Parts: sequence; structure tokens; C-alpha cells
Amino acid sequence: MNAGDALRAAAARIDRLDAEVLLAHLLDTNRMALLLAQDRDIDDAAFKLLVDRRAAGEPVAYITGKREFWSLDLTVTPDVLIPRPDSETLIEAAVAAFGDVAPQSILDLGTGSGALLLAALDCWPDAFGVGIDRSEAAARVARANALRLAMPAAFMVGDWATALDARFDLVLANPPYVESHANLARDVRDHEPASALFAGDDGLDTYRVLVPALPALIADGGVALVEIGATQANAVTDLAAQAGLAAQLHRDLAGNPRALALRQA
Ligand code: GLN
Repeated sequence: MNAGDALRAAAARIDRLDAEVLLAHLLDTNRMALLLAQDRDIDDAAFKLLVDRRAAGEPVAYITGKREFWSLDLTVTPDVLIPRPDSETLIEAAVAAFGDVAPQSILDLGTGSGALLLAALDCWPDAFGVGIDRSEAAARVARANALRLAMPAAFMVGDWATALDARFDLVLANPPYVESHANLARDVRDHEPASALFAGDDGLDTYRVLVPALPALIADGGVALVEIGATQANAVTDLAAQAGLAAQLHRDLAGNPRALALRQA
């Protein structure tokens, strides 16, 4: 079958864009080149296997093993959360916070694929980055991403309560913040790591540990940017105030509260 017919058949079962991404992946090309060569012959059986996986709910990024974040091509596996465009809000807020002065040291708590840390290092190539994750498998994915992008980052396995005897100009965190009973999309709930998503009945369990640890991690004049759920701005601002931190809200492109910049008050 040719690519055009295969795409039309696939689009009856899954999202058309997903079909294009999967076929481009199979042919080791990009979507644009694929769309310009729709008469090209393809291996229907191999394509059908990919479409079957997507039709059964597996996220495209886990099927292709990659996802773009902040224009960086990252490897992802089911051991890590798939980086979301919403999380780019943290990087934009960090760029706004530092202006002309580059941070020299960057810490990413719960780094997963390394997306936030590597995006920050893309902005400040002379900075040094440290990423921490509780999951050994996630740290391996992050290390592989840093290596492939030739970025100066070290990844450690541990908890964020782990005493890190250092302070950082920029601290980033996209912790788990989803309520345990939240009605998540099936693709997310069934495939992405629960340990990267859920944080107790009110989704605030991680912040209750993370926020009090921040004052000892932020360097003088530094800032922490933490991702939050759309309804969590007030609760996390309160936790920050109890820890002696002032919070500034940043919204994502959809206008939803998405990140808090936390500084010594
Ligand atoms: N934004 C993610 C979602 O809604 C949650 C990310 C997180 O818990 N850190 O699926």
C-alpha cells in the first residue's frame, strides 16, 4: 500500500496527526517529507502494528520513544512522564526571572526525562545542572538525553528530602500533583507512571515535602519554579509563605495557573 492510502485508512481509527507521526517514525523521516511523498510504498503490516498500539490507548510518544520539548528531541520511555508543552511555562518564567544574568547552577527535582533541566541548559549553556529522581530508570533516561544533547548535567537517584549540601541559582520541579481520585484521561492513567502523577487525596502531598525543602536549596538571589495544577495556586502559595518564600504566579498558554516562582521573602 502507498503512504497516502495507509494514512487515510489509519485516520479512520486514530487521530490523523498521530497517524502521520507514527508513519514518519516507521519510515525514519519527518511528517513534511512524508506528506510530500504519499505515493511511496510502505510496510502495511508494520504500520498496522503501530496504529493498533495507538488505537489501544498507548501514547504516541511511548510508541515512537521520543517527544519534543523546548525544541529538544528527547527520548522517553514509560518510566518517565511525557513532557507537556504546559511545562515550558516554567522555562519561560525562568528566562523572565533571570533577564541578562545567567544562572550558574540549576537543580531539577523529579527530573524524569530531564526535560526541564535540559531545556534550562539549552537557555544557559554555561550553567551546570543536577537532576534528581527517585526512579533509577528515569535517571537513566535523563542521563541518555543529556549525553545525546552533549549537555553538562549530572543525574542522581534520590528523594528531594535527601540532604543536598549545595544551593542553586535556579531550582526547577514538576512534581506529582494530581489528586489520587482525579478523572485522568485513560491514555495517561493507563500508561504514564503513577509515581510521577499522583500526590494524595488533594494532590498536595508532594508540595508539603518539597516546598519546606526549598529555602535550603535556593542560592541568594535565586529562584525556584514549580509546576502546579490549575487549582493549586493558593494552596501552594500558602505552603510557600509558611516556608518563608514569596510566590509569583505564571499562567500557561491556555491562561491557566501553571507555575509559581518562589523566592526568599
Ligand atoms: N500535567 C500533568 C497531567 O495533567 C500532570 C503532571 C504532574 O503531575 N506533574 O497529566
